[in-house]
Amino acid sequence: MNAHAPAPTEQVADTVSRLRRYFRGGHTRPLEWRTGRLLALRAMLTERGDDLVAALGADLGKSPAEARRTEIDFTLRELDHTLGHLEEWLRPEAVPVPEHLGGDASAWTAYDPLGVVLVIAPWNYPAQLLLSPLVGALAAGNCAVVKPSELAPATSAVLAELLPAYLGTAAVAVVEGGVPETTELLEQRFDHIFYTGNGTVGRIVMAAAARHLTPVTLELGGKSPVFVDRGTDLTAVAARLAAGKFLNAGQTCVAPDYVLTDPETARGLEAALAEAIEALYGPDPASHPEYGRIVNTRHFDRLTALLDSGRTVTGGGRDRDAKYIAPTVLAGVAPDAPVMREEIFGPILPIVEVDGLDEAIGFVNERDKPLALYAFTESETTRRRLATETSSGGLGFGLPLAHLTVSDLPFGGVGESGMGSYHGRYSIETFSHRKAVLHKPLR
Ligand code: NAD
Repeated sequence: MNAHAPAPTEQVADTVSRLRRYFRGGHTRPLEWRTGRLLALRAMLTERGDDLVAALGADLGKSPAEARRTEIDFTLRELDHTLGHLEEWLRPEAVPVPEHLGGDASAWTAYDPLGVVLVIAPWNYPAQLLLSPLVGALAAGNCAVVKPSELAPATSAVLAELLPAYLGTAAVAVVEGGVPETTELLEQRFDHIFYTGNGTVGRIVMAAAARHLTPVTLELGGKSPVFVDRGTDLTAVAARLAAGKFLNAGQTCVAPDYVLTDPETARGLEAALAEAIEALYGPDPASHPEYGRIVNTRHFDRLTALLDSGRTVTGGGRDRDAKYIAPTVLAGVAPDAPVMREEIFGPILPIVEVDGLDEAIGFVNERDKPLALYAFTESETTRRRLATETSSGGLGFGLPLAHLTVSDLPFGGVGESGMGSYHGRYSIETFSHRKAVLHKPLR
């Protein structure tokens, strides 16, 4: 669609019909078509990565190094993993046939592409979270309408220019815009809707999808807790915790949201976190090139209202014009403090004190199931208990965020943090129908 202007809403229905005709023509089924699209996407990312890096800098103050690592290289890794395994993943799988069908019957499963899918992306990793689902949609042999977030307008404009240039317009359409355009898109019948963003809009998406019986994947957020056990190396814990939390100024769906630990460990962790933050971003994070900015003043104001929720260990500085909030650690935070009532999605790390593991598990289980749960512990028993006594989209021991970079792991939430998953072969599952086939010869 048009490169820089939002799509006129009346064009949306035509676009979907056009893609559907192309899909029905059978063009997207062959493996060669799929790998061809993925290679074109690969060329786009390698040849025009700089354009995306500049846009990500403009939208979110992402440094070139961070933009490359978390958006472009991330997507390339996902893409290469898919290219390397796609043929194997798509192979039909034979299953045993029961005796009553006789020895000559055979049965297998085979993947069918779904048709025309819709991908709606958020602003925080506006390239990765649009392009990684698109890798799966194309690999599975679908046409796709993709809707970048209007809150990252520079990235949206670059994607709207580059995707048609590299992929053509027959199978992929970019629709830019905000609520009116997305509402119009949701009126259409898709064969799958893949939505990443918040739960309020997730409900709108699911309700709209229900009208057409369209299946959905909802990649949502929530408060991802971190349990820090007694007796762990707090210098190492703080370094990894700070790196995961303050990446993209805390605007990461799987960022550690808050820490649960005992009072004594909390004291040690407070000091270690202050040191770790200074080691990462220097004495003045505002002038450090690797430290990002808050996406807009609405989120800036929302976040600064949370800064009084506890004793400030480090940080607290802010600059509204620059949309800057310093990496901040709050200690002695009450479980019902404002900062504990919603997903923080910014550079504020509260520490909530609990007696120990039992109370921590209870704390997690009394709340919505998180997108990720993290723990730093040397104890195998503690790891086993966390694995079996809690439920979360993902579980990370010793290194926050990293599970999402393993392409062979499914990435997704559970309960309030979402439904469905993707990455690697799980994207093929999501964007295909696994068809049951039986063959009984006539003679
Ligand atoms: P956002 O505001 O960019 O919204 C996401 C998408 O929803 C956008 O494309 C937007 O245009 C669309 N949208 C907004 N309002 C709409 C409406 N009324 N009807 C239809 N569509 C609408 O991003 P956001 O929701 O602020 O993203 C942040 C949230 O996303 C956080 O909760 C975060 O944890 C979550 N998130 C989850 C993942 C994941 O992979 N699970 C990744 C990133 C972010």
